[in-house]
Amino acid sequence: MPTLTQLPEHQAHVQELIAIIHLFHQRGWSPATSTNYSFRNPRPYHETCTISSSGVDKLHFQAEDLMMVDDQGQPLPEYADRKPSAETLLHTMLYHHLDTEAILHTHSVASTVFSLVHQKDKIVKLTGFEVLKGIQGIQTHEALVAVPIFDNSQDIKALSEEIRVYFDHNPRMRGFLIAGHGLYAWGRSLAEAKRHVEVFEFVFECMNQMYGFCRQGGSV
Ligand SMILES: [Zn+2]
Repeated sequence: MPTLTQLPEHQAHVQELIAIIHLFHQRGWSPATSTNYSFRNPRPYHETCTISSSGVDKLHFQAEDLMMVDDQGQPLPEYADRKPSAETLLHTMLYHHLDTEAILHTHSVASTVFSLVHQKDKIVKLTGFEVLKGIQGIQTHEALVAVPIFDNSQDIKALSEEIRVYFDHNPRMRGFLIAGHGLYAWGRSLAEAKRHVEVFEFVFECMNQMYGFCRQGGSV
């Protein structure tokens, strides 16, 4: 049986993810070595995932900077000398609870500003944007897409438990924000997850500009 890294499907996912990471970096969504990205490994290795290592400049990110962890976020034996991202537990928690194949996490200016402006609201309902149709299952710009905003924490275990509890009550959650930090979104493929990130980033940017416009005395 071929090893995981020999599977053509895995190799294709690696190339696709690296292209996404470089694109997101180019867009300014992964500054200063931040952010993390993962995909679920193909069967029969589906309980493990491939995820970005910690502390790598995403401008120069390459296949060697990916590593694999088990469903508890622990590095697989061949990656024991590597440091997984501090937020790996958020990825493994989401894989436990979601029918999803890829998780992408950005630290953009738009999501950071948006999350701080609306932090007290705890949840923001996005509606009225044509681009929302880019989210799987959304048919009209009139749909409501709720995005919760969690307080930031360096205690990732506690934060992932808080998000898990929210998710248990809101299984249709499409993505979430961590205040002053960034966006998590996912999809049934890397392409879908990328599309979802682009939808959210686009809407956050629009809403930030609308907010600034209103603060200057305009009305929308
Ligand atoms: Zn982060």
